[in-house]
Amino acid sequence: MANAWIPWYGCKKKSEGCQNCYIYRGAASRGMDAGHIHKSDKFDLPLQRNKKGSYVIPPNTLVFTSFSSDFLLKEADEWRPDAWRMIRERRDCNFFFLTKRPERLLECVPEDWGDGYENVEIGVSCENQQRADERLSIFMKLPIKRKYIILAPMLQKMDIEQYLDPTLACVVCEGESGPNVRPLDYDWVLAIREQCIRQGVSFSFRQTGSNFIMDGKQYQVQKRYQHSQARKADIDYHAQPTV
Ligand code: SF4
Repeated sequence: MANAWIPWYGCKKKSEGCQNCYIYRGAASRGMDAGHIHKSDKFDLPLQRNKKGSYVIPPNTLVFTSFSSDFLLKEADEWRPDAWRMIRERRDCNFFFLTKRPERLLECVPEDWGDGYENVEIGVSCENQQRADERLSIFMKLPIKRKYIILAPMLQKMDIEQYLDPTLACVVCEGESGPNVRPLDYDWVLAIREQCIRQGVSFSFRQTGSNFIMDGKQYQVQKRYQHSQARKADIDYHAQPTV
């Protein structure tokens, strides 16, 4: 079971991958400014209860956290301690967030973080070789119980093999979605897959994006087919768990 929790809205653009950020596009279509960062009125959703007294988010839920921002955004520093408190209280759920700011994690975690909370999974997103080198060299050393590398939107061929180790939960490749977006070449995806297989790391091709190149041909893929087309490629790799 999965659910979404948006503790705050809005973000600041950080790098090339943010150029066509869906949060900015969505806000603009509603005449709003995604650069205006504000607390959500569902901030305390993980602790909210229904009329029967049960949590609104049931136990054993995977909670997609802060997908309308970056959880490690500086502008949210004031609110994050309360968010951690709720995450700690809901140990019966797993919380998953993405960040382009792994360099901020250690200054953002609570005192009892230790090697990472058992119920927190974190993905770092990287769009090109430069950002992968900057972020993965930091991310792979961080104390996090379950780590993902998300290459999205993947903007060029990348070599991340030196950062891969079998403790990673998965490496994910995705293209960019929306009008006039940058292309994803299937060869780049296959190259990452090979790196993952060599290093014994699980791999998933999650979605093609809107502008997809395969065998030198360019395809415009409608949003509703982007996941299914990637699945059809049938190239996901499931590494054996490390003992
Ligand atoms: S960091 Fe993520 S959420 Fe923030 S602007 Fe960039 S793409 Fe959007």
